[in-house]
Amino acid sequence: MRYFFRDIWTTMGDWGSEAWDWTRDKLPIWGFPALLILVGVIFLTVQVVAADKGPAKAQHQWKAEWNETVDVEQSPVEQVTTPTAVASEPTSAPLLKLPPSQSLAATAEPSDASTAALSNGTSVPSADATFVFKCYGRAHGVGMCMDGVHYRALDGQSYKTILNYYYTGISFSKIDDSRQVRIMGHDGQIRTWSMHDYLQHLQEEPNDSPMEELKCLYVAARTYALSCIARNKHTAQGYDLCSSGDCCQACDENKNVAAYPNNNKAIEETAGEIMTYNGQPIIAAYCGSCGGHTDNNEDVWGGAAIPYLRGRPDSYCSKSPRYITVKEMSVREFQGKFGVGDLKLVDLSDRTPGGRVKNARIVGSAGTKSITGAALEQMLGFRGLRIEYSFR
Ligand SMILES: [Zn+2]
Ligand SMILES: [Zn+2]
Repeated sequence: MRYFFRDIWTTMGDWGSEAWDWTRDKLPIWGFPALLILVGVIFLTVQVVAADKGPAKAQHQWKAEWNETVDVEQSPVEQVTTPTAVASEPTSAPLLKLPPSQSLAATAEPSDASTAALSNGTSVPSADATFVFKCYGRAHGVGMCMDGVHYRALDGQSYKTILNYYYTGISFSKIDDSRQVRIMGHDGQIRTWSMHDYLQHLQEEPNDSPMEELKCLYVAARTYALSCIARNKHTAQGYDLCSSGDCCQACDENKNVAAYPNNNKAIEETAGEIMTYNGQPIIAAYCGSCGGHTDNNEDVWGGAAIPYLRGRPDSYCSKSPRYITVKEMSVREFQGKFGVGDLKLVDLSDRTPGGRVKNARIVGSAGTKSITGAALEQMLGFRGLRIEYSFR
């Protein structure tokens, strides 16, 4: 690559000096500056025209740091040429050149009431009081909220409406589900399956889930699998995807797929469908429950912002019986863990835009300590960071 750029540089240098010689021979003394001005005007015109083109803008407020985002987010994917053909294009067109198909950005969005703001903490009434900590939702809260998907599907929303709600500014595209994927099974064997067969062996949603929920799942799973392949997640090990839910997606090579007719129907009814952004398969992150508000990827995981992983209010997952987790702890026990004297306040005001605690300040008569939201989560045995408290 270094030599490639050097060669280009050298070639451009040659062109430059040839142009200079030609100009000196053919044009009067003012000719070369005039040419430069002409080239400049053409360049500016092209810039102005091109500024109006490009992909549709995301519908949320523009953030300055996205300037960085778009470059960083695309670069690792662009270097890859996955040998996948688009269904409508039987050539060996690389996956990453998918034509943007119908965009559903214009689809009416469901009304979704903003969820109530969480309390940032109140003064400790007495050393004899007991904290009642509450945690809303489970897991990281980025991307699609599976509990929200479930209740939206029960509410009659279509899978595309749901996916458009959780992933901002996406388009839908199609691949060929007969494309091959190499799967490392739990038994250590590598199997070559079609994408269709791979999806059938995923171990996620039960067969009696609402159909639109299953369709959301399989479009997201297909997209996620492609994004793993595009990022060469396991290429060096000689396969495309492993069977672990902690790494790729939970998959069972021994699953009795015939026992899941609704899942199979959802795979077939969404055959080949994937979600794209700027023509690339998106990183279809999802979590168990967002607890009322999803979050921007960079606010939870750090790194550059990804335009389609934006925080959104979600009133649907609150219908789940698993929405709130409660943990009680006496003030004495809590303050004993920090050595700040008599506890005055647990300040939870340092939050992500989606309400997740980044840092908690433990304020006492003998000083103040700060712990991360993750440390507080672990201490209370919670599985999420949308935490608030009251006393009883
Ligand atoms: Zn893996
Ligand atoms: Zn949710």
